[in-house]
Amino acid sequence: MTGSPAARPAVFSVPPYVGGESHLRGVSRVIKLSSNEGAFGPPPGAMSAFQSVAPKLHRYPDGGAVELRHAIGRFFDLDPSRIVCGNGSDDLISLLIQSYGGPGTELIMSRHGFLIYEIAARLAGMEVRKAPERDLTADVDALLAEVTPATRLVFLANPNNPTGTLVPSADIARLRRALPSHVLLVLDAAYAEYVEDSDYDPGNGLVDASENTVMTRTFSKMFGLGGLRLGWAYASPAIVDVLNRTRMPFNVSGPASAAGVAALAEQGWVERSRSHNTRARAELSARIERAGFRVWPSSANFVLADLETSDRAVAADMHLRSRGIIVRQVAAYGLPQCLRITIGTDDECAAVADALDEFGQRHA
Ligand SMILES: *Cc1c(COP(=O)(O)O)cnc(C)c1O
Repeated sequence: MTGSPAARPAVFSVPPYVGGESHLRGVSRVIKLSSNEGAFGPPPGAMSAFQSVAPKLHRYPDGGAVELRHAIGRFFDLDPSRIVCGNGSDDLISLLIQSYGGPGTELIMSRHGFLIYEIAARLAGMEVRKAPERDLTADVDALLAEVTPATRLVFLANPNNPTGTLVPSADIARLRRALPSHVLLVLDAAYAEYVEDSDYDPGNGLVDASENTVMTRTFSKMFGLGGLRLGWAYASPAIVDVLNRTRMPFNVSGPASAAGVAALAEQGWVERSRSHNTRARAELSARIERAGFRVWPSSANFVLADLETSDRAVAADMHLRSRGIIVRQVAAYGLPQCLRITIGTDDECAAVADALDEFGQRHA
């Protein structure tokens, strides 16, 4: 017999997501600033908690992630019954799209929004509409202009990846008020812990004030647990019920839960990481600008450097690689002239700044 099974055509409608690279040929010690993983590695308490569950690896995890949800609830002052945990926030993003979207419906995102939304939406058979941005920042009126009778979901990362830009919370509240009430607004606050603005609402305020808004969060950035895959969503009881029906029963592993609880208990971790990030981001931005390149204002743990042309961005990337430094080309996000650079330790930031300085002198 010949022939092979055919997957649904939607499976082939998007190129697969390519994550940040982590290896360079011939370089043993690389500086990896390509995936926004946090400057300080995993919290020490999370590493011990992870190791201490080794003898229990034969046990299935608690499918309700009760201890973890309660720890998140205490830490962020949220009702644990309105929290759903996931295998990374990507898991929850995909579940929301599968649950509220589907063939014949549309998802709206901004022009340079996070690519996972588009990938998950196309896999679900949806059309994706991208709204133009203003100064690489999502524009509420442009998002609203994309609404049609087929719209089911609007996704907005705030701060956004890969631009780092922040939409004021008052504008997001206006977006919610102007969207039809049957349209689900998903606020992806993967970088919330880094934001310093005092009037910033990562989404929980709006979730509490409406039945049709979800906030997603992650342990992959500030909390340094990207390798374990741990994210969560905060939503109305009806949406929580939908997510609990659509998620797989053991979508969060035992080691991930244990490490997540311990990460939240790490004293001073968030304050120390945030203040390092704010200072190092300002210093790195200033040094890149002195090297002759524009940097977009960022509220997250990375900066977007603008090299003006895609040729120059590729050449700068090659130069950084020759110095053992991996950053992220963001052509897939429609920004071929830019490089996204994660804020690492002071030494890592200095290395990247030195290398870009050198590059700037050669390509002035
Ligand atoms: C990193 C990132 C996530 C994904 O996080 P995981 O929890 O690791 O799946 C989601 N949204 C944005 C905008 C991100 O940058």
